[in-house]
Amino acid sequence: MARISPLGIVGVALIGGLWLAERARQLRTQTHDTATRQVRNVAMGAGAMLVVTAIEMPLLKRLAKGNVRARRGLAQTLPLPRAAKTVLGVAAMDYAFYWWHIATHKVPLLWRLHRVHHIDPDMDMTTALRFHALDMVVSLPFRVAQVVLSGADPVNLMAHRRFFDASVLFHHSNLRLPGHWDETLSLFLTTPEMHGVHHSKVPEEMDSNWSSGLSLWDRLHGTLRSKPQEAIEIGVADRASIADLSLTNSLLAPFREMPEALPPGSISSR
Ligand SMILES: [Zn+2]
Repeated sequence: MARISPLGIVGVALIGGLWLAERARQLRTQTHDTATRQVRNVAMGAGAMLVVTAIEMPLLKRLAKGNVRARRGLAQTLPLPRAAKTVLGVAAMDYAFYWWHIATHKVPLLWRLHRVHHIDPDMDMTTALRFHALDMVVSLPFRVAQVVLSGADPVNLMAHRRFFDASVLFHHSNLRLPGHWDETLSLFLTTPEMHGVHHSKVPEEMDSNWSSGLSLWDRLHGTLRSKPQEAIEIGVADRASIADLSLTNSLLAPFREMPEALPPGSISSR
């Protein structure tokens, strides 16, 4: 019989808790049918997950073991205690992802794939799953460079993966945190309000809040922006973003001609 790890139980409890919490305390009013969106997002996520578990993680684990053997990469070459190496390894991987996220918006081929994630017209935990499977394949060279340059060992790699996955689920959620918690947490981490601005249809707002883990990188590069959530229109301002929402169209959209951007005046200023 398969053993269930305590970490796995904690993970399932946290995901279940967040799923219930975002229903009880909505941050943004949903504009589209939630069940339809969620089924599509989970189906997209299943395809992406297949690439990650079958190709990405086995490859990265092998590279992380190689980092230790060959003493290569940032965390392996600096004479630091093990705990410091873990923190440094995880932070270096997180910082590399900040730049990769910018690339997924600015490099036309990468945007074709990342756009599929952004066309979701509402955000909740399942938006975190809405990635094209080919996006995972195309990002493999970046993931390889991320592990090799950071010098992550297998422990660092898994620590970063858990931190990253938890952060991505959390900051895509539609959870309104009590009081000033969101603002306070955003001093260190990427929060739902912070990432909501990045999913705005307004190009200048989408070009902000690139961090996916620590919020430090946006603060460091002056790319942090805040806006009341009720004033944000979530999605992509182009002529096909709603038509491309169905599962088939989401999978085919990156191979079609890119739709024309909508004029700035067509985004409602709420
Ligand atoms: Zn993005």
